[in-house]
Amino acid sequence: MRLSVRVRCCRVLSFRCGSPAVSATELVWTVSTLVVKSMDQIELPGWRIEYDRSATVAMLARMPTSGPDSCHCAPCKNWAATRRNILPVEFQALLEELGIPLDREIEIIHFGRLESGQHFYGGWYHFVGHVLEGEQELAPHLRVDSFAWFFHAKPALLTDASAGLPIVQLEIEAEIPWLSNLPEAS
Ligand SMILES: [Zn+2]
Repeated sequence: MRLSVRVRCCRVLSFRCGSPAVSATELVWTVSTLVVKSMDQIELPGWRIEYDRSATVAMLARMPTSGPDSCHCAPCKNWAATRRNILPVEFQALLEELGIPLDREIEIIHFGRLESGQHFYGGWYHFVGHVLEGEQELAPHLRVDSFAWFFHAKPALLTDASAGLPIVQLEIEAEIPWLSNLPEAS
């Protein structure tokens, strides 16, 4: 019998089981033998994401520095200097909810300056959780103007801090102006 148990922040248990004949006693026994970790859920258009905020905060606190902060190239320095002005407030609120500080990007990539004068950046963050509904090929990217994001469960550049944890990768794509006083990259 395969039984999955999901515990939500409201402490309401929901059960999904391949076998319909599961007695209450059996369920109680099963739950008591599992190490059940409480995770919250967030629903976005096309997506349902499970996340453990406190585990993410602890994991990212163990990460020595972010990708762009450890890089000396101009695009990374520009990003690090202006990230608070670059990220839409809606996305900053999502990071706060997930437990990701603004300066905890795993990686930031500068793809170049566009004809429009904007700069095309990509990058990603990690948090502890699961993608319950939606995957990058199946669900629409979420978007505020020219800033988009999506989730998937195939994380890249995992650090020692995330060892043994279920990690979701939150990816971003952005067309943004060059806001710092650093010499503008091409
Ligand atoms: Zn760099």
